[in-house]
Amino acid sequence: MRTEIGPAGDEDERYAVRPIPGSRATKPYRCPGCDQEIMSGVAHVVVWPVDRIGGPDDRRHWHTGCWSGRGTRKLTRRWS
Ligand SMILES: [Zn+2]
Repeated sequence: MRTEIGPAGDEDERYAVRPIPGSRATKPYRCPGCDQEIMSGVAHVVVWPVDRIGGPDDRRHWHTGCWSGRGTRKLTRRWS
């Protein structure tokens, strides 16, 4: 599993990132990066704060491209 810096750009807050292949994306999710739906069947990433209480229970599904560009655009929704 890899960890990356989150949307806030804070080095101390790491997020676990796991790719979800399209074949495993069985229902739609709301991407916090663009506030659009990730349609079922579309490969994307699931992300959660590594050190925060809640951990994997606090995970969010992101479009792959939205997660990659998270530092250059604002979140449309709060994480929590
Ligand atoms: Zn998105």
